[in-house]
Amino acid sequence: MRGRQLGEADRIFTLFTGERGKLDAVAKGVRRAKSHLAGRMEFGNECEFGMHRGRSLDVIVSAHILHAPWSKLVEPERFAVVSLVAELIDAFCEPDLAMPDVYELLTGMIAAVERSPSPRELLPRFSLRLLAVLGLAPPPDACVRCGRQLGSNAGWLDAQAGGLIDESCRERWRDLPEFDARDRENFGALCAPKGAAAPALRATPRVARAVEDLLAHHLGRRPKAGAHLSEFVPG
Ligand SMILES: [Zn+2]
Repeated sequence: MRGRQLGEADRIFTLFTGERGKLDAVAKGVRRAKSHLAGRMEFGNECEFGMHRGRSLDVIVSAHILHAPWSKLVEPERFAVVSLVAELIDAFCEPDLAMPDVYELLTGMIAAVERSPSPRELLPRFSLRLLAVLGLAPPPDACVRCGRQLGSNAGWLDAQAGGLIDESCRERWRDLPEFDARDRENFGALCAPKGAAAPALRATPRVARAVEDLLAHHLGRRPKAGAHLSEFVPG
């Protein structure tokens, strides 16, 4: 969840739920010290909510904390990574559309970020899993333009095309990053379906940049939290 102010005592929270996907809901009086909701509505918390249907927004009447990672997320790199995760899910998911796979991915990612000594390295695998759940994942071993298998041939990352392309589809004048055998293998492992790759699998530097470019292509911009992340974590 993530909040913003509404009037003097209320806040609107953007929640990501298992049942209804993304939704905005108002917590009335949450900014008053005696509110029973204050302290439960922290960024990143997983809660069971009681809600009323309001005229425009749902109203949160109760919150029971299921998982509160905040004590770990205050660490700057962890906070920046989870902020980026929240921004991506917010940008890619329509309101009021149940997306249980995204919910599972989100809660799994928050738990992994809490444990990881280098949470930033979790982002390429998370990003590719998110694209996969959204139906936007690139095929790791075929040219996205002509569909031909890359086999042991070189591949070039064409973010505008949404994945790797082969020699015959590559325009010579375009300066695209070339994936060598190690990058290809790494990219394939990171694209593997749920459970088939270690979540902490590290991306090669070229693959990590390529995944950022792919995300930016699908998002139509660079994520804001990404810029923030690079401010204090040299990458
Ligand atoms: Zn091709």
